[in-house]
Amino acid sequence: MIDTHAHLHFPQFDGDREEVIRECEEKLDAVITVGCELEDSKRAIKVAESSKKIFATVGIHPHEAKNYSERDYEKVLETAKSSRKVVAIGEAGLDFYRNLSPKEKQYEVLKMQVEVARELSLPVVIHTRNAAKEMAEFIRKEFKGVKGVVHCFSGEKELLEAALDEGLYISYSGIFTYPKNNSLRETVKFVPSSRLLVETDSPYLSPQPVRGKRNKPTFVAYTAKAIADYLGLSFSDIDRITTVNAKRLFSLPLTQEEEKERLVYKVGDKLYINLTTNCPCSCKFCFRGKEDFILGYNLNLKREPIAQEYMYRIKNPKIYSEIVFCGYGEPFERFKELKEIASWVKKFSKETPVRVDTCGLAFLITKNKEVLDELKGVVDSFSVSVNASNPEEYYKVVNPKFGKGSWESLIEFIKKAKEKGFKVVITAVDYPGFNREGFKELAEELKVPYRIRPFKRFKRWES
Ligand code: SF4
Repeated sequence: MIDTHAHLHFPQFDGDREEVIRECEEKLDAVITVGCELEDSKRAIKVAESSKKIFATVGIHPHEAKNYSERDYEKVLETAKSSRKVVAIGEAGLDFYRNLSPKEKQYEVLKMQVEVARELSLPVVIHTRNAAKEMAEFIRKEFKGVKGVVHCFSGEKELLEAALDEGLYISYSGIFTYPKNNSLRETVKFVPSSRLLVETDSPYLSPQPVRGKRNKPTFVAYTAKAIADYLGLSFSDIDRITTVNAKRLFSLPLTQEEEKERLVYKVGDKLYINLTTNCPCSCKFCFRGKEDFILGYNLNLKREPIAQEYMYRIKNPKIYSEIVFCGYGEPFERFKELKEIASWVKKFSKETPVRVDTCGLAFLITKNKEVLDELKGVVDSFSVSVNASNPEEYYKVVNPKFGKGSWESLIEFIKKAKEKGFKVVITAVDYPGFNREGFKELAEELKVPYRIRPFKRFKRWES
């Protein structure tokens, strides 16, 4: 796990810094200690240089902006270049809560730091307080081609949307665990797994069970656990997801294990089978082709593995609560392998449920109307991504390559699957403009249960 935002070089750690760092080295993958003005950033660098696992940022906090100007560009640049342990610029931002610097100064110094980050290809650590609207506007205008993270995100919708549209990361701190913060907790459902980070902001903002104590980087685990519980994931899922994300944002090396493409991947107690990157659809909200990492795994296969490679990796299907064919692409694109692997799973473990997550265009993909009969006894259920309530919406949002007739084939698949005794659920993403009521009516008409999933913005979804 990586604490992406701490201030280990602050005086609150003067009494026991070595001990805290030793604990971080034992329990964490890395800690980013964040600088708040130039001298402070130099102290951050010094602490980072004392340990392999500590990294630093160089930046000027909006509170300090009054003492700096755009003319400090070179100084910030040179300080950032002075150590290989510097992984980001910031914390930089807008703070209209305490207004310790004039607004125009805050903008000037923030803009200057974004330019340094652009020059050095480093991400920006963004601080925002009482300035969500202004920061959202700033991000949309100034962050083209610059990476970054909204640190200690506190739940503002417009900021979240702007940040995700521009490909920035969202970092949750201990405030996520505070009992009253329901509306903040709710926002995590809308953050793509590949954009999620955790932090402590230590020595401040201790998470719930240790609230009131001085915060420290290892307490990041409390926030991670709260996120895992909220999303219904395991602690190790959030650990993996946020660690990989932090490494990718701050350009820390991924392990071989983290980097390698995944044929099978475990989430919670289920095992997912990633058969292909091909899909006949191009849903507007899909991450395919835009992002290799999903749920902390590299799912963008560079080849089409044979069935035996999957069986070798599944090893013992009995230990999973479900085996799910769901990956980067559409499982029916590799029907032969799908059938072979599912049959092998059932032969090994009759009681392990097998589900296929599909776009429902199996008849058109395989040009075979018998596919459902062929899967009888080896697949138990289908989760069919419909994502529309009528053909017009469907062709606009899902845009299948087969064109006209796709909607009818999808509906036929759902009806036939149900008739033949498979469990069928239809699903949709709640994208802007999605007709929820129409979708519910469609589910009623088809007499199947439905599930509506939160819409996760990702790099200007409509473009
Ligand atoms: S059906 Fe699934 S994999 Fe295919 S484009 Fe749509 S969301 Fe992406």
